[in-house]
Amino acid sequence: MTITPRVDQWVKQLVRPEIRQIQAYHVQAAQNMIKLDAMENPYPWPPAMQQAWLERLAGLTYNRYPDPNVSLIREPLTQLLKLPDHQQLVFGNGSDELIQILMMALSGQNRGVMSVAPTFVMYDMIARFVGMPYHSVQLNHDFTLDLNVFIEAMNQHQPAIVFIAYPNNPTGNAFTRQQVEQILEQAPGLVVVDEAYNAFAEDSFIADIDRFPNLVVMRTFSKVGLAGFRLGYMVGHQSWMKEFDKIRLPYNINSASQHGVAFALDHYAVLEAQAVSIKQQRSMMLDSLQAIGRTTVYPTQANFITLRLEPALSADAVFKALKQDGILIKNLSPSAGLLDNCLRVTVGSEQENQAFLASFRKHLTSMQK
Ligand SMILES: *Cc1c(COP(=O)(O)O)cnc(C)c1O
Repeated sequence: MTITPRVDQWVKQLVRPEIRQIQAYHVQAAQNMIKLDAMENPYPWPPAMQQAWLERLAGLTYNRYPDPNVSLIREPLTQLLKLPDHQQLVFGNGSDELIQILMMALSGQNRGVMSVAPTFVMYDMIARFVGMPYHSVQLNHDFTLDLNVFIEAMNQHQPAIVFIAYPNNPTGNAFTRQQVEQILEQAPGLVVVDEAYNAFAEDSFIADIDRFPNLVVMRTFSKVGLAGFRLGYMVGHQSWMKEFDKIRLPYNINSASQHGVAFALDHYAVLEAQAVSIKQQRSMMLDSLQAIGRTTVYPTQANFITLRLEPALSADAVFKALKQDGILIKNLSPSAGLLDNCLRVTVGSEQENQAFLASFRKHLTSMQK
């Protein structure tokens, strides 16, 4: 007799029902594929930089806990961002962990989370983990924001936290600065501006922290080329950060990540040059996609492009055909609603993008009108 049925009974009895209902975050298998699904930077470090990193790595020890204060990164980053003394950084194991910290700090009876739909799925998921009600306001069909509807919903739900991904994922666009400022002014609670794609965007709210007492800005190193290190940070007034830092688990940033990101900050020009070339590739791809036609290509300030296929084409079919050709993108269509018949492609290296475009062009031209 297997023990499984008995374990399952215990699980059913003890794990919160809302957790049992959640679908685990699914990561697509990507072995041997051209990987354009996860907004990663396509470029490895140049060989000399790689070599210098290996030498630094050889000098690290692993028997001691990492620096709980993350000073190796805190200091250069404070300078890089030109933060005044009364603003502070809190680091997370990816910005996903920061979302969790923020929600744990502000959760409570009748305290909800609000954002737009579609947006980054972790806001909704982590709200469920911590037991906070989650409310979202549908974007317009072209993924722009209807500010009046959003403000009305804030008045109705009185959220403790509002998350605005700026630019938004999975749509790529940034709402207007005036809209975000209005949200900051009218919100009854904390507003987190999530700048995960800042390296590819035209605007930022970091310099506005002193204008709004309820603003926290969140960023990550994941999309600029250091996804493997898992390091996110938030910036805000020290009074907020002091509280959030209490919830952060001690030693949440491991030694290898601390040294790796510090090393990368010493070579920041390399990452910046990579971001420039990703932006050039992005405009090349936008032009090529326009030329191929049969899709609506949405404006983007991120390192990915979201597009909607004309009704005669099926996103599922195009996604599968690309996959057959060894190219992995993200099929947004299963989330339905506003994302019906949409695909999202990360901007990769020139070679990867050309492979994607060739396959995409071939399938769109051959599929029935
Ligand atoms: C990718 C992404 C994140 C999470 O980044 P990590 O630092 O890798 O956890 C946060 N917000 C948005 C909008 C993202 O797209």
